[in-house]
Amino acid sequence: MKTDILIVGSGLAGSTAARILAENGKKILVVERLRHIAGHCHDEKNEHNITIHTYGPHIFHTNNKKVWDFVNRFARFQPYQHKVLSYVEGKLVPFPINRDTLVQIFGKEIATYEVEEFLEKEVKKSKFNYPPKNFRDVVVSQVGERLYELFFKNYTIKQWDRDPEELSPEVAKRIPVRYTRDDRYFSDKYQGIPKEGYTKMVERMLDHPNIAVLLGVDYFEIKDEIKAKKTIYTGELDRFFDYTYGKLEYRSLELKFETFEEEYYQSVAVVNYPNDYDWTRITEYKHFLNEKSNVTTVCFEYSKAEGEPYYIVMTEDNLRKREQYMKEVEKLEESGEYVFIGRLAEYKYYNMDQVIGSAIVKIQK
Ligand code: FAD
Repeated sequence: MKTDILIVGSGLAGSTAARILAENGKKILVVERLRHIAGHCHDEKNEHNITIHTYGPHIFHTNNKKVWDFVNRFARFQPYQHKVLSYVEGKLVPFPINRDTLVQIFGKEIATYEVEEFLEKEVKKSKFNYPPKNFRDVVVSQVGERLYELFFKNYTIKQWDRDPEELSPEVAKRIPVRYTRDDRYFSDKYQGIPKEGYTKMVERMLDHPNIAVLLGVDYFEIKDEIKAKKTIYTGELDRFFDYTYGKLEYRSLELKFETFEEEYYQSVAVVNYPNDYDWTRITEYKHFLNEKSNVTTVCFEYSKAEGEPYYIVMTEDNLRKREQYMKEVEKLEESGEYVFIGRLAEYKYYNMDQVIGSAIVKIQK
């Protein structure tokens, strides 16, 4: 089979690249190993007519106008400002930490103009390495030991199964802390959820006469049968090179969906559980699109080592292996025959807008 461009993967990286190149007159073949498009941002309505995000909650947020304009060509967005509560010491408090979080945790009035000084005092009382040597140091140097213990330490252990002192400082370069009462999780200029879902948005991106999509097809099983001038690869980086420099580690998730016979389960879409229970967070999906129903579907999220790759693990060992693989990628990209884009192919934590932004830039090179 012949095509101008073979794209491996129908997530946002692959679909953005496919659309732009198709509009430039190229014939595109997208191969996707799963039986559905949209990769990690896949969503669908469940039997209760509630939109579920298959791989965990996804909120679109960006400051990149070019990316925002691009996605708005394929979806109408419902304005949505994400709010998260954290269950700490039996209370539900705003997260990221803001002025109200401090008032509820420390049980005293703190005016917004006093927050910065309050946190400085918390930091001064605390012990940590400066410059930071690990994740703990980064957080303690910004909010002090007490808030670190309550909000970050156990959450990190649950999420990564590692002591924060073993994790690279890069994992938490700057943690968001608000000196005001602003309780929005993100402060980007553009935020929302596609009204008809992410899957529909990606379906429209791929709906172009120059694009053909094959589902349930693994690139490594068919690559010798397809002649393409260029391959855009969005799958796992280490797999492409047959694990030459060793396996790159990922954390996975177990998502347990449950439907309750009540209108709402919690007051916001996401509640974090840093210290209590085994789950890391609970998501109640109907909040995202303000969907009306007498029942509600929630998802209990558990972090685990094995399974579908979700999060990259930023240890020195993994970052060193990544560097070795990326040198090989550079050589292949210089040849003009390959482009590597996306969270798996670059072994990088990317938000959706960053993946789209990176695809737009990389394919125009
Ligand atoms: P993917 O979506 O993983 O797409 C890669 C595709 O390639 C997959 O469909 C895969 O099946 C396919 N593929 C791989 N190998 C092969 C092969 N050999 N042959 C054929 N096909 C192959 N971002 C936000 O902006 N906001 C959020 O709120 C947010 N929440 C998140 C929550 C969770 C739990 C996680 C894990 C991520 C979240 N993200 C969020 C990040 C977001 O999911 C990613 O940035 C984005 O979906 C990545 O797109 P991608 O195309 O790079 O990768």
